[in-house]
Amino acid sequence: MSDFNRRKFIQICGSGLALAALPFSLNAAAGARVVVIGGGFAGATAAKYLRLLGGNISVTLVDPAAAHISCIGSNLVLTGESALSSLTRPLATLRDKFGVQLVSGRAVRVDPGLHRVHLASGATLDYEHVIIAPGIDFERVPGLNFNVMPHAWIAGAQTTLLKNQLNAMPNGGTFVITIPKTPFRAHTGPYERATVVADFFLRTKPASKILILDANPDIAAMRRTFSTAFTGIYRNIVQYLPNVTVNSADAANMSLNITRGGVTSIVRGSVINVIPPQRAGRLLFDSGLVPSGSKFAPVNPLNYESTQIPAANIHILGDSQATGQAKSGHMANSQAKVCVDAILRALVGLAPDPAPKTTAAAFPPITRTTASWTSTTYAFAPPSGLATIGTMVAVPGTPAEAPTPTEDIREEMAGWLGNLLSDSFA
Ligand SMILES: Cc1cc2nc3c(=O)[nH]c(=O)nc-3n(C[C@H](O)[C@H](O)[C@H](O)COP(=O)(O)OP(=O)(O)OC[C@H]3O[C@@H](n4cnc5c(N)ncnc54)[C@H](O)[C@@H]3O)c2cc1C
Repeated sequence: MSDFNRRKFIQICGSGLALAALPFSLNAAAGARVVVIGGGFAGATAAKYLRLLGGNISVTLVDPAAAHISCIGSNLVLTGESALSSLTRPLATLRDKFGVQLVSGRAVRVDPGLHRVHLASGATLDYEHVIIAPGIDFERVPGLNFNVMPHAWIAGAQTTLLKNQLNAMPNGGTFVITIPKTPFRAHTGPYERATVVADFFLRTKPASKILILDANPDIAAMRRTFSTAFTGIYRNIVQYLPNVTVNSADAANMSLNITRGGVTSIVRGSVINVIPPQRAGRLLFDSGLVPSGSKFAPVNPLNYESTQIPAANIHILGDSQATGQAKSGHMANSQAKVCVDAILRALVGLAPDPAPKTTAAAFPPITRTTASWTSTTYAFAPPSGLATIGTMVAVPGTPAEAPTPTEDIREEMAGWLGNLLSDSFA
């Protein structure tokens, strides 16, 4: 992306311009009920824009949390450069500003026949359309205890725990990070975590080491940026090992049993951050929306409607869906807008936009004063051959990556995140 385009992209990102003017009247949709499950980047954006653009549509947002804590930016909390409070957005803003009805609770099952959501409390909510956006769940790693080896991959108490462990770690200790096979939430995130913590160690505990155990054959995102950092400024701190399988964890001995190149061994660490393999939120499995043997929920990217239970007005957004697009907050926000547009059209009997586009972006900090960026734009590709559902494919030239980390990009990082948080939650 050229510098001009990138700046323009940062400005308009999150502005919702794509949905500013709907080419149809929504009178016929008045009174329709949409239930949104999950108030993260995907669900909050969808709830907001349904109310903003949908006239008198009734929108109910279900989440057990009263506020969302953004994972984006949470790596900087680990080093004290940011605070969780600055990443926290109350869902009440969506009620007060846009008239979204909030239900505090956990959805446990969606009944496609009755168009009904069942909550853990026993209450039910009926809908014309339901949007399911519960983020991720973790797969089990034998012996793993998150109270001892935090994932810090859902921001909140886990972030604070890892921060405290890193602060307490003696100079000369080893911080081990494990990365699961793709796809997982935020492909740049683990490598960003390594650079942020390496910078922190360089300044505060220079004899310390970071060992990255990656299940993938290579750095999964922004390879040039991160490999340059790991082998350049952080060469005395970071050791990166690809193709590592974590077999089990031993909390009592602060060790992992791993296999690499057919050899099994024990790795010890002063602080161990296991980022486990991931899958769609449990609700999607319990509602029959993930095919046997799959980890994420397949959808039609024209309207994000489930293809596992089609024609039932069940839409799945964000990290839980299986279109192959980046599992990112920026992408979740972008998908939500495509989905809202499609639902509003469906409510008045129109087909979805036949050529949607979505975007993903990340601005990983590389040092205390510099950051880099990456962005990917996806365009709809119609079905070919025997396929009945189209796909989203990265447009030529993307993913794009900054040539080098700079101080200017670090400033833009804050603007980008501020825009994205405002557009999703306020
Ligand atoms: C360290 C880190 C760095 C990251 N950096 C970036 C970045 O630079 N750029 C970027 O775009 N993305 C980044 N991400 C990824 C981003 O945070 C996620 O992709 C994004 O949060 C996904 O949004 P979501 O709405 O699908 O899920 P979430 O934001 O996780 O929201 C899910 C919501 O659903 C609720 N929920 C779950 N189950 C239920 C249920 N049964 N009933 C009701 N509610 C439920 C949860 O309480 C939660 O509020 C990063 C992630 C991490 C961990």
